[in-house]
Amino acid sequence: MRQGLSKGLYVRGKKCQKSLWLHKFQPERKDKVSEQQQAVFGPGTAVGELACDLFPGGVMVPYEGLRVQEQIAMTQQAMQDGQETIYEASFEYDGIFVKVDILHKHEGVWDIYEVKGSTSVKSVHKDDVAVQLYVLCGAGVKIGKVYLAHLNNKYVRNGAIAIDQLFSIADLSDLAKEKQDEVSSSVAELRKMLASDMPEVKIGPQCSKPYACDFHGHCWQQVPENSVFKLNGRGIDAFDYYHRGMQRLDDLPLNKLNRSQRMQVECYLAKDEHIDSKKITKYLEELWYPLVHLDFETFMAPVPLFDKSRPYQQMPFQYSIHIQLERDGPIEHREYLAVPGIDPRPELIAGLLREIPEEACVLTYNMTFEKGRLKELARDFPAESEALNGIVQRVRDLIIPFRKRFAYRWQQEGSSSIKKVLPAFVPELSYQGMPIANGGMAMAAYHLMCAEGDAERLSEIRKNLLAYCKLDTEAMVLLLEKLNDMAVART
Ligand code: SF4
Repeated sequence: MRQGLSKGLYVRGKKCQKSLWLHKFQPERKDKVSEQQQAVFGPGTAVGELACDLFPGGVMVPYEGLRVQEQIAMTQQAMQDGQETIYEASFEYDGIFVKVDILHKHEGVWDIYEVKGSTSVKSVHKDDVAVQLYVLCGAGVKIGKVYLAHLNNKYVRNGAIAIDQLFSIADLSDLAKEKQDEVSSSVAELRKMLASDMPEVKIGPQCSKPYACDFHGHCWQQVPENSVFKLNGRGIDAFDYYHRGMQRLDDLPLNKLNRSQRMQVECYLAKDEHIDSKKITKYLEELWYPLVHLDFETFMAPVPLFDKSRPYQQMPFQYSIHIQLERDGPIEHREYLAVPGIDPRPELIAGLLREIPEEACVLTYNMTFEKGRLKELARDFPAESEALNGIVQRVRDLIIPFRKRFAYRWQQEGSSSIKKVLPAFVPELSYQGMPIANGGMAMAAYHLMCAEGDAERLSEIRKNLLAYCKLDTEAMVLLLEKLNDMAVART
């Protein structure tokens, strides 16, 4: 029996044939989508709806409530009725069903608009538009241009959303035409594959790029705990080693590794640590008091929620600060968490400028992130830019001694992320078991918080967010103490 395809299935099959086979015949093997992931996906759906305003007044061919043949018939009817814009226009050819996000008539021919929530054209998008062109041409539609409408990350919101500025329109007509022979042969290949047993596809970069495969858990279950994929740093093709039988760190040829990778493997094998107290001491000499440990949590939205913000801008909505005015003095905690629905930045900036002493050393963990947010706050709120840029100048980075391996323990598994460094050096404290345990979950919690109407549930989310962000700066305080111990104890 010939297997039906759609543009989504075609794109999935082009990325990985096994993924398409599993999707068709064993969908129950998919990874579970958590409430947090769902909250992150949620805002993306608004993009497609907004894009309809690029060509207002069109007719919608809904997916819900209509069978495929009814959707196709409704599209034909709309075209015959002289409609110039059809949203979700539906066609079938060669057993492939596609829905075109926007089909717009221009100078007597139809232009295809595929809408994406990304900020650039990705290679998967090219397959996406190519299969649409294949089906529509096959179905006898006269096509003019093939466009991809994606978000414009230079767009700055100022009042109501300016649709024509929010989207960038890329002309993919030539590319889609060039791919027509490829579509035809790929469709035949995918059909042949679907008529057989599950194809043998090795795990590879396609499992996570350009996005994570939803069968990751299934295909990667055989990968051992201390696999070659834990090896950090460049210059190693982990998949090549893995498929040549060198699956664990123990299997790797040490002479092929760089210094840092070698240290990772040697420390792992000996369950050991590497401490360079001289370098730690030198690093610590560059810090001063008052000393502020600072951590932000941010959210992103494809369509900017507030003025003076852009698509996918990292918007800080929370901070945690631990302040120590003098060496060995008491450490105090301060925090801010926005209420949902307001632009959090003015209050957050006021809090930062109030809490951070003017001359303080501002310690962050992986400063690129916090510095980036501070610079954006300075750009978007020019009245405070001098003070905010002053903080930027005083930012120092606690990740350095761990990233540069002045201090390394085998439990870090090659990572200098605070999530790995903390339990390695302060085992009594860990993120494990926390309802919010990483930045992605915090971001999702912000979106959940905005959608939550129940006061009790809202208070629970806020409590979890505050606990998570506080642990980030608490962890920094304890790691700095550990570094001080290592510097003093061994010099
Ligand atoms: S996890 Fe990788 S190999 Fe498995 S189906 Fe997905 S992309 Fe293919």
